Amino acid sequence: MNIGLEHISRSFGGFNALEDVSLEVREGELVALLGPSGSGKTTLLRIIAGLDAPDERPGARIRFDGEEIDIRAPRQHQVGFVFQHYALFRTMTVFENIAFGLRVKPRKVRRSEAEIKSRVTELLGLIQLESIAGRYPSQLSGGQRQRVALARALAIEPRILLLDEPFGALDAKVRQDLRRWLRNLHDKIPVTSVLVTHDQEEALEVADRIVIMRGGKVEQVGTPEEVFHNPKSAFVMDFLGNVNLFHARLEGDAVGDAKTQVRARPHELDVSREEGTSPAVKGKVKRIQTAGAVVKVEVATDEGETVVVEMAHDRFSGSGMAAGEVVFVRVKEARVFMEDYSI
Ligand code: ATP
Repeated sequence: MNIGLEHISRSFGGFNALEDVSLEVREGELVALLGPSGSGKTTLLRIIAGLDAPDERPGARIRFDGEEIDIRAPRQHQVGFVFQHYALFRTMTVFENIAFGLRVKPRKVRRSEAEIKSRVTELLGLIQLESIAGRYPSQLSGGQRQRVALARALAIEPRILLLDEPFGALDAKVRQDLRRWLRNLHDKIPVTSVLVTHDQEEALEVADRIVIMRGGKVEQVGTPEEVFHNPKSAFVMDFLGNVNLFHARLEGDAVGDAKTQVRARPHELDVSREEGTSPAVKGKVKRIQTAGAVVKVEVATDEGETVVVEMAHDRFSGSGMAAGEVVFVRVKEARVFMEDYSI
C-alpha cells in the first residue's frame, strides 16, 4: 500500500510537534523516520496508524493508494504494530500470541481453525521460532519476544507495518542481528513499513529510504547513500555519523572573506608523520584505538581542536605512528554548509 501524507501538522497546546510534513511511502518500501528525541517521529507514526489525528488545516490529507482516507477513522485492520515494549500476553503461549489477531476477528471473516494453525505455523517458520511455539513469553529472550511481537503484528496480513523503536530495549549485538533479520523478512512479505528509530546505523542498514526529522519538520529524504554522501545540511551530516569540525576562513569573490566551519568524516582525513608539501594541520597524537575494523587516531591540533582520523589497519602498521608524536592531518574530502557562514 502506498501512503501519502500531505501538509500534516500536529500541535499540543501551543507547541508544534509536527509542522507541515508531506511525505510519500511507496508500496513495499521500508522507510525509516530518523531524528533526535522530540523531533516528531512517534507523533507522525501515530497519525499514520490512526491512533492520533493531525490538526485540521487546509490541505491536510492522508491517502492510502491514492484514495483520501478519513483522518479520524480507526484503521487497525490495515495496520500492524510493533513497539519497543510490546506486551505479549503473559498467559498465552507463543503460538496463541501469534494466533490472537486471527481469533478475535468477527465470525464472518474469521478463518477456520485449520487455516489459523497453518498461518501461525508459517509465521513461526518466518521468525525461525518453530521449536518454541509452546513456550510462554517469560521463557523467551528479549530478541525472541520482539520476533514474536512482529509475527503477531503480521498475522492479520496488514498492508502497513509500523515499528516504533522495536529493538530499542535490546543490547547492541542482538539489535544488529535483528535488524538484518528484519530486512530479510521485509524482502519476503508484501508490506509497506515505517520504522521509527533514533539510531542512525539502524536506519542506514535496514531502510530503503530515510526521512530525517528535525523539530517537527522533514529535514531531508533520501536513500541511505544519498543522505550519507550528500547531506543537505550540517544537521544531517552531524546526525548520520562522526564528524570532525575545523574552523576555517574562506577567501574569494563569491563569499567575500567568510569565517566558516569545515566538516569531514574520520575516513575523509589522512594523518601522517611527514610534513609534506600539501596543506596540513599540525598536531599531536592523543590516542590510538586499534581494536575495531579500522584504526582510530585521535589528534590534538595546534589550533586546540581534537580530530579523529580513521584508517585501514595495514596502512596504520606501516606508518610507525605512536601516542605523543607530532603528526600532520590532511583533508581528503570535506563539506561546508551555507548555514555555518558568518561574513
Ligand atoms: P523520541 O525519540 O524521544 O520518542 P520523537 O521524535 O518520537 O521522540 P514525539 O514523541 O513525536 O518525538 O514528540 C514530539 C514532541 O511532541 C515532543 O516535544 C513531545 O513532548 C511532544 N508531544 C508528543 N505527544 C504529546 C502529547 N500527547 N501532549 C503534549 N506534547 C506531546
